[in-house]
Amino acid sequence: MKYTDLDLLEDIGDSHYSDNVDTPLRPDAFVKSDEEKIEAIQKHFKKIMEELGLDITDDSLSGTPYRVAKMYVKELFYGLNPANKPKLSTFNNKYGYRKMLVEQNISIDSACEHHFLPITGFAHVGYIPEEKVIGLSKINRLVNYYAHRPQVQERLCLQILKDLQETLNTQSVIVMINAEHLCVSSRGIKDKTSSTITVEYGGAFENTEIRNEFLACLNPIE
Ligand SMILES: [Zn+2]
Repeated sequence: MKYTDLDLLEDIGDSHYSDNVDTPLRPDAFVKSDEEKIEAIQKHFKKIMEELGLDITDDSLSGTPYRVAKMYVKELFYGLNPANKPKLSTFNNKYGYRKMLVEQNISIDSACEHHFLPITGFAHVGYIPEEKVIGLSKINRLVNYYAHRPQVQERLCLQILKDLQETLNTQSVIVMINAEHLCVSSRGIKDKTSSTITVEYGGAFENTEIRNEFLACLNPIE
């Protein structure tokens, strides 16, 4: 790879550029079982540690390749596999609730896809129901599912929005995420205080007054 190509890769990482709302997946992404993936990743990660010069026979290090592999497949990135998507059962809006519902301060535990470092923060989600309503914890589960992939914050925001719009059969959904990126705070620019806010919405939330009503509802944890 030419030096200029590497430069470009750094730039893409630092500007968090991505142009697709779907997570880019290989066609054979889920041919292997979780156990087969853990087995393979374990070997690769052992190699990385050895290349860094670590003595993998040390008691404290010997289990690390397995721990990292299992953590990637079963915890941090379980949301890559559609089989792990939570069931989003909806109910008829029997009580005729037609105003805003806001679920705020949903914890975000994600990882940036450019550096594989943590993204942590909160999501705030609002919707105005038409015929369908959804169990509150389902919103948290959906946020968790999409967060547990290598992500860029903009895409995470859009994936949650589009899924809820489809599930609730209404465009009137808003998703706001305020998160800190370890790749900004611990490397590169090393800014410890900044956070990134993304807001995506549709339907009634296109209206500034409705959007302001949503913002006025929020009591965000700093
Ligand atoms: Zn990053």
